[in-house]
Amino acid sequence: MRDETLVVRAGLPPPSQGGAFLPGPVFAGPFHAAGDPATSPFTYGRFHNPTWSAYEAALGELEGGAALVFASGMAATTAILGSALRPGDVVVLAAESYYTTRVLARGYFTEMGVEARLLPTVGGLDPAQVEGVRLVWLESPTNPGLDVCDIDAIAGVAHAAGALVAVDNTTATPLGQRPLALGADFVLASDTKSITGHGDLILGHVAVRETAWADKLRTWRTQTGSVAGPFEVWLAHRSLATLALRLERQCDNAQAIAQFLASRSEVLGVRYPGLAGDPSHGVARRQMRRYGPVVSFELAGRAEAERFLAACTLVDEATSFGAVHSTAERRARWGADAVGEGFIRFSAGCEHIDDLRADLAQALDRVRV
Ligand code: PLP
Repeated sequence: MRDETLVVRAGLPPPSQGGAFLPGPVFAGPFHAAGDPATSPFTYGRFHNPTWSAYEAALGELEGGAALVFASGMAATTAILGSALRPGDVVVLAAESYYTTRVLARGYFTEMGVEARLLPTVGGLDPAQVEGVRLVWLESPTNPGLDVCDIDAIAGVAHAAGALVAVDNTTATPLGQRPLALGADFVLASDTKSITGHGDLILGHVAVRETAWADKLRTWRTQTGSVAGPFEVWLAHRSLATLALRLERQCDNAQAIAQFLASRSEVLGVRYPGLAGDPSHGVARRQMRRYGPVVSFELAGRAEAERFLAACTLVDEATSFGAVHSTAERRARWGADAVGEGFIRFSAGCEHIDDLRADLAQALDRVRV
């Protein structure tokens, strides 16, 4: 099945006379479960939930592995780090990986006796860099810099050294690339972003090839209670059906906007893996099937970026990305990423490209006073 067909059907129950296509969310703390708990498919809402099971079945089909839903992208991240790392272990993270992931690894996990090392995101991995390493943490394309790393090549080097590989696939989604098929042991995403795509919930997931890891991650989820609400999960599953449609429009818009921005003199630099001249394009073309909705670009400074954002009428100033509405923000306002004061992360929505381009053009016209 092609992606467009897969997302429409993924995780749906077989047709039953009078049954719903996607049964509604099951709201339950306890389930009826008399006697031996092993005789009941569901017992308690922190352990399992049929709404989770349906969404996880869908994600499993998309990712090519066993999937588990978590309360957020960071809950999914924490589950991998917490399940895979023990005191004395070394984790190597791509230097451009998501800020909070790095803070968590170099903060809490370091305090608990794990050594967290940062390595350049781009370029290959030297076998010496992974000697004695337990986990290699990749993100591709990175948020917000949009650097791309060669997952297949890095996984090969990491595995030869006995290290595990996790890939944060949030910006790409499983329709953009399938890290498990490229050799990763874990793939995770913030489903808050493109997978759900409506900017109305917080959610995350992990998928793995080995059931032993799925069991460990499930135990982590049950014991730490990092569980998702059934309504959010149902909304996510409902949104999944339009993922291919949404992404197709968003990626087309992102490509056209990246080209448009590159033609404007106010814009000092543009990053988009789909641009032929982008430093990431070579690897991205081999590895990715869609280049994602995020475009990054640089204006001269803070004042220029603020004037630009204030002048946009169809692009809302907001953090996060991947929704049907175009959004943008000046990343330096958080003080977290290594970016210039005029650096803007733009997320292409599903609007008509002519409207978007016209809006960005009039906003860029106002950048210079
Ligand atoms: N990974 C990436 C690449 C992200 O951009 C984010 C959030 O912005 C996360 C993980 C964390 O996801 P969440 O906000 O759903 O916890």
